[in-house]
Amino acid sequence: SMVQRAAASQKRLNEFLQTEPLIQTPENAGEKADLSGDIVFNDISFTYPHTGIKALSHFSLTIKKGEKVLILGRTGSGKSTVAQLLLRFYDADDGSVSITGKDVKNINLKALRNGISYVPQDVFLFSDTVAGNISFGLENSNEEMVIRAAKAASIHKEIETLQHGYDTVVGERGVTLSGGQKQRISIARALIKEPQIMVFDDCLSAVDAKTENQIINSLYTVLENKTAILITHRIFTVFNFDQVIIIDDGKIIEQGTHHELLALNGYYAELYQLQTNQETAA
Ligand code: ATP
Ligand code: MG
Repeated sequence: SMVQRAAASQKRLNEFLQTEPLIQTPENAGEKADLSGDIVFNDISFTYPHTGIKALSHFSLTIKKGEKVLILGRTGSGKSTVAQLLLRFYDADDGSVSITGKDVKNINLKALRNGISYVPQDVFLFSDTVAGNISFGLENSNEEMVIRAAKAASIHKEIETLQHGYDTVVGERGVTLSGGQKQRISIARALIKEPQIMVFDDCLSAVDAKTENQIINSLYTVLENKTAILITHRIFTVFNFDQVIIIDDGKIIEQGTHHELLALNGYYAELYQLQTNQETAA
């Protein structure tokens, strides 16, 4: 019967909730987080609970304070999982993630997530105004900050053409924006926080090449004194990345600067070749 089926699914749901790993802040973690130093992934292995998919395997990476890092790799290789573990949406099974010498497990969770701006791969907008979406979660924001963030995300001009500008309601009850517009609003939301660490997960996939270049160029200035991780499917040559990481099957298979990886003649060099050919053909 329907009642039995409902009871059965409630049971499954309860089992699911009970086995979900508890992400908590230890009592002695303090209120603040010092996120000004290096980020270290030390021999991380991680398998997603419930599916048993091993997403990262003996993954080690040091990102020095202020470095800009590009992470590339095939779909399903583990790129987003790196971001998920940094923000502690999950805890690693083995190894540790630390920031400024402190294990993220011992950092106040709220301070950790407030101190890292994260543009997720799956963008979401709230049923709110454009301005409200950009300043979401910020206690003190003003129009000037909202506009500055929108400009840096190359969306300001398009917002101005909306009927009510920054006061236009978007989302379910408002106007529908394109995927690329949503992505740039999401980028503006991350930029307005002015955090020390920024993580962009494939957040330019829906914008055209010209807009992509504009955003990357303006990010270059915005990110100057910050530590930043960009996860993408494309190579950005306008940006002089300190490190480029290629992940395959949960492991780093190539690591170095643009020139070092070109010289390796591997995945990166092949992708670069492909991309350059496409650009000349276009
Ligand atoms: P893409 O380029 O498609 O975004 P990715 O490199 O970001 O891929 P991840 O999302 O890190 O890859 O996924 C790594 C592996 O973990 C994949 O096999 C994926 O199917 C699996 N995976 C990702 N998220 C989850 C989840 N929430 N639960 C279970 N398995 C997951
Ligand atoms: Mg991903």
